[in-house]
Amino acid sequence: MKKLLFLLLFFLNYFLSANNNIIDLSNYKWEYRWGDSPFKDKIALWSIEQNNSSKWSEIDFPSNPPNRDGKTNVWYRVKLPKNLTSDPHIYIFSVDIITQVYYKGNQIYHFGQFNQEGKGKFEGWPWHMFSIPDDSAGEYLYFRVFSNYLDIGLWGEVLLASKGYLLENFLDYDIPKIMVGSVSVFVAVIFLLSFLSKFIRVELFILGLLFLTQGLNILCSVKILQLYLFYPLLNQYILAISFFFFPVGMGYYLDKTLKFNISFNLIRRIWQIHLLYLLGAVFGSLLGFYDISSTYEYFDILYNFISLPILTIFLIYFFIKGDKQTKLISASFLIISMYWLYSSLIAYGIVPWVEYPSDVAIFLCLLLLSYSIVKNLNYTKELEDAKEELTVLSSTDYLTKLYNRKEIDSLLYKCQSIFQRYQDSFSVILLDIDDFKQVNDTFGHLVGDKFLIELGNILTTNTRDVDFVGRWGGEEFLIICPKTKSEEAIVIAEKLRAKIENHSFEFVGKKTASFGISTYTQDDNLTTLLSKADEAMYQSKKEGKNRVSFK
Ligand code: GH3
Ligand code: MG
Ligand code: MG
Repeated sequence: MKKLLFLLLFFLNYFLSANNNIIDLSNYKWEYRWGDSPFKDKIALWSIEQNNSSKWSEIDFPSNPPNRDGKTNVWYRVKLPKNLTSDPHIYIFSVDIITQVYYKGNQIYHFGQFNQEGKGKFEGWPWHMFSIPDDSAGEYLYFRVFSNYLDIGLWGEVLLASKGYLLENFLDYDIPKIMVGSVSVFVAVIFLLSFLSKFIRVELFILGLLFLTQGLNILCSVKILQLYLFYPLLNQYILAISFFFFPVGMGYYLDKTLKFNISFNLIRRIWQIHLLYLLGAVFGSLLGFYDISSTYEYFDILYNFISLPILTIFLIYFFIKGDKQTKLISASFLIISMYWLYSSLIAYGIVPWVEYPSDVAIFLCLLLLSYSIVKNLNYTKELEDAKEELTVLSSTDYLTKLYNRKEIDSLLYKCQSIFQRYQDSFSVILLDIDDFKQVNDTFGHLVGDKFLIELGNILTTNTRDVDFVGRWGGEEFLIICPKTKSEEAIVIAEKLRAKIENHSFEFVGKKTASFGISTYTQDDNLTTLLSKADEAMYQSKKEGKNRVSFK
């Protein structure tokens, strides 16, 4: 019990001391003033004016003051606390759109470039950290802000602490992000590579892109990285692409994997529109038609008010109606849709700003999707293997592994079609083993069977790859020779006859076969072709067996 109390005191102390290290500046008294300050010798006059309180109005948080009416310039000021930490730094995440910070008339920090009229261009939404003078306790700090964006002012956290403490705080926030981001990118690479190796499963490609964009999104929001790689605009482009890509990926994935009939192809239309939006936003802002920041506003309207509600209704419907696989996919996307909805509510100030675990939602969703796809891949592979086995089984003869009668029939039909179109003549060779009954009678059926296998091997090894060798019946075989006229067929049959005659069969020794040949002509159909071959074969038998006849 004593130990428990000690532990409790320890934690209490930890939290209290933690709070002492950091000052939430957003709770202090903020004021705003529309317009832009005049300057004299680079001194911002608004920041040194005396007795000017009437020109400033109070505001809870330094963002979006009332009565904007299209104004693009505003100033904010805050009275710093009476007691500052050592090495005081201000941390802000983030500012719309560009800012300068003044202390006693002098600029102590800037982000973005202000021109003569006090205007400038979007440069990204990084976090900001700058030191303030040690003697600034209880003094005013001024923020000059320009924004042609929906919001004007600061956003998110405004903290005051020592630099060391702020960086330590970043690490706590960053480490899970670095891990989740790297894993997502790693998984993305695996999915993309496995797609590239086969080019068949587009879902793998889309899932790879989703992982990649979401992974990059998470990595781009790692705060500590900004200390080493400060490219806020590039960062913003990557964030925008990953943000705008999500409905494309989600829509495409649903479109590809779910087997529901959807009126007007609504889901397809949604991802197509979002793809156009993504391309338009990125290329339009690269070409300088607008700032990438302004494309967020319309995306939010399109996504939050049109695509997200429609997709959510579908997702719920799929979740209720679908099979296990569909439930899994729709649940994954529902998780992430809820996360987007939540982040929009924060962006619109409907719920208070918090550092929420966005990456957990993304990661959970992608993990579920991967599970579903991997499960599906195994299943498909099993099905494909089974299908292949069935195809082989249904077209081959069980004993000799030659084509079976059914397959020979369909091959004959194909050859007939080719003949009718290109006049490509083809021949068939029918052969029947001479006195085969004796083999069975003398050596038994098992030896008879072995004999048939051995004979089948002779036939396949002594014919061309393009010829089809099949077992026509008990001990009768049929060979289809495409693009073969009667003279050539006779040569082939004669060769086979000699091979059989000279072969010594296991247990049985010498054996012969009789051959009948016929060639498809204009007046033939498959029935006449086969009966001609049959007649020819019987002629061979009648004439003393072990010979080749042609009809
Ligand atoms: P012929 O020279 O007139 O052809 O005489 P044959 O003895 O070969 O007579 P026929 O062609 O009528 O004989 C067919 C025999 O083939 C009958 C049957 O026992 C045997 N047979 C048919 N299918 C199989 C089989 O799958 N395995 C075995 N071992 N024998 C078979
Ligand atoms: Mg026979
Ligand atoms: Mg026979």
